[in-house]
Amino acid sequence: MSESQNLTELPAVARNIHLECKKCGVERYHVVVAHTSATSAKVKCEVCGAQKTFKLPKAQTAKKSASGTAKPRTKKSAGPDFAAMWTELKTQIGTDRIVPYNMRTKFALANAIEHPKFGLGFVTAATNDKVDVCFQDGGRSLVHNRP
Ligand SMILES: [Zn+2]
Repeated sequence: MSESQNLTELPAVARNIHLECKKCGVERYHVVVAHTSATSAKVKCEVCGAQKTFKLPKAQTAKKSASGTAKPRTKKSAGPDFAAMWTELKTQIGTDRIVPYNMRTKFALANAIEHPKFGLGFVTAATNDKVDVCFQDGGRSLVHNRP
């Protein structure tokens, strides 16, 4: 399907996007689990559950300056822009249900959490004992689901 190639912005979290799944070997609906940057998102195959990163085509998002002037670098030259990502996640996930952070609580993908030190954050990845959380000032890996 060519529609996914013409996207100019990321589909919202929890939306479906039709992409090729390498594991299935065919195009499948993938659910958007999180936005990892302004132009990329983590998506999950609805059939086999395989996760992959979906990136917007660069040609449509990045404009080259005609004069050859170096692009002004963002403060953090390496890694994703967490402030932008946090703002995006806040819009996508919302703040209706914020769970106070506690290492004994089990969190899941796309949970909004309130950390006593780091403030409001959004879970971008979760394993059995760790969660990656996007806070406004950066990403952090936190323990959770402790007995
Ligand atoms: Zn699949």
